[in-house]
Amino acid sequence: MKVLKFGGSSVGSKESITNLKEIVESQQDDVIVVVSALGGITDKLIATARMAAGGDRQYETEMEAMLTRHENMISDVIIPQRRAAALDGVHGLFGELKEIMQGLYLLHDLSEKTMDIIVSYGERLSSQIVAQLIDDIRLFDSREFIKTEHNTHNHSIDSDLTYRLIRETFQPLFNAPDGKPIANSQQPTAKVKALAPGFISSDAQTGEITNLGRGGSDYTASLLAAALDASVLEIWTDVDGFMTADPRVISSAYTIDELSYVEAMELCNFGAKVVYPPTIYPVCQKNIPILIKNTFNPTARGTEIVNELPAGTKAIKGISSISDTALITMRGLGMVGVIGVNYRIFKTLAENGISVFLVSQASSENSTSIGVRNEDAAPACDLLNREFSKEIALGAIFPISAEMDLATIAIVGENMKRSPTGRIRDQHIVRGAEELAAQIAQRNP
Ligand code: ADP
Ligand code: ASP
Ligand code: MG
Repeated sequence: MKVLKFGGSSVGSKESITNLKEIVESQQDDVIVVVSALGGITDKLIATARMAAGGDRQYETEMEAMLTRHENMISDVIIPQRRAAALDGVHGLFGELKEIMQGLYLLHDLSEKTMDIIVSYGERLSSQIVAQLIDDIRLFDSREFIKTEHNTHNHSIDSDLTYRLIRETFQPLFNAPDGKPIANSQQPTAKVKALAPGFISSDAQTGEITNLGRGGSDYTASLLAAALDASVLEIWTDVDGFMTADPRVISSAYTIDELSYVEAMELCNFGAKVVYPPTIYPVCQKNIPILIKNTFNPTARGTEIVNELPAGTKAIKGISSISDTALITMRGLGMVGVIGVNYRIFKTLAENGISVFLVSQASSENSTSIGVRNEDAAPACDLLNREFSKEIALGAIFPISAEMDLATIAIVGENMKRSPTGRIRDQHIVRGAEELAAQIAQRNP
C-alpha cells in the first residue's frame, strides 16, 4: 500500500488535476490519496475571514470568487454524470462557510478557533472534487482520525490515538477477509483507493476542528503511511524533486536524486518548503522511503529520501535559508568555567515557549550565541536579562541584546563529516551560496 499526497498546485489547475487522476488511476498498488486545498485557497480563506471580521463588505466578492473557482474546476474536470454530486458537496460547504463569514462580519470578532474552522474548508472542498474525479475512490474525513492535543504553546499530534484510529479506519479496507493484505495477494483484485483531506484534524478531548499547521498535508500523509506501514510515501508537487536550493531564489538549483532523512530534515527545517518538517519523523521511524515527484512532469525521476545512502555520495547536498532571524549573544568573562549557564539559558527559554534553532559556544566558554526568530528576540532578551540579573549587576556577564533581521543559511550534507573542508568544492553549491547571499543582501539592504 502506498500513500500519495498532492499539494495545492497539483489540485490547483485543470492540467495538474488531470495528471493527478492519471497518476492515481495507473497505480499498481492500493493507495491512500491525500489532497491539499486548491492552490492559494488557504491564503484566500484567511484573508477573506480577516476582511469580514474587519467589517469590509468586499469579503462577499472574495467568497463568490472562491465559489466560482471550485465550480469552474468541477465543470472542467468532472464527467457530466458526477458533476451534480461534486457541486452538491461544494455548495453545501460554501453554504456553511457563508454563514460563518456573515457571523464574523456582524460580530467583528475572529478567534483562533474560528480561524481553524474556516481554513479547514479548503481541504474539505478540494477532497469533494477529487472524490468525484477518480474512479472508485472512497472519501474519508481526516478529522475523525488525525487527533491533536493542546499544549501550553501549540497543538501537537496525539500519536497513540491517531495511529490507533487510522488503523481502525483503514485496515478493514486494505485487508482481505483472510487478514492478508489485498495488495500482496496474487489474484488480480481491483485496487483499493481511499481519499483523505490533508491538513485538517480535531482536538482529542473536545472534538473541535484543528489543523497541522501551514503545509501540514504532507504530515497527514506521513502519519497515514507510518500507521499503516505503507511501502512508500509519495509527495507530488510542482518541482522535479528536492533541489539543492529553493529554485525560486537560486536559478542554478538542481534536483537531488537521493537524500538521507537527516539531510532532508535539516534542509526543510531551514526553509526548504518542499516538505513540511514534521513529515519526516513518522516515516523515518518506520524506515518508509519518501519519494518527491512532480505532478506536472511525472516521468522525472524525483528524489528518494531514505535512511542510509551509499558510500561516496556528495559531501554537500544543498543549501537553504530562513529570513527574519536574530542572534542573541551572551558574553562575559564571568561565564568561563561556570557550570550550568547554558542550562539556565535553555530552561528559561523553554519554559516560555521560545525555540532556539542554532547554538554556538566559544571554546573558552566566554560567549554563547543562540539563533531565534525575530519575533522571539525581544521577549528572549527580557527573560535572559532577568534570569542573569545578578551576574549582570556584578559585571560577570554583559547586558544581553539581539542582532535583528538576519538571514540564517544552512549548508547540509551528512558526508561533510568525512570530508576535510579543503576538499569540499562543489561549484554549483559555491555559485548557489553566492547567489543566495546576493538575494538576501538585496532583500535586507
Ligand atoms: P505543495 O503545494 O505541493 O505542497 P509547496 O509550495 O509547499 O508545494 O512546495 C513546493 C515548492 O517548494 C516549490 O515550488 C519550490 O518553490 C519550493 N522549494 C523551496 N526550497 C526547495 C527545495 N530545496 N527543493 C525544491 N523545492 C523547494
Ligand atoms: N492548505 C494548507 C496550506 O496551504 C495545507 C497544505 O497545503 O499542505 O498550508
Ligand atoms: Mg507544501
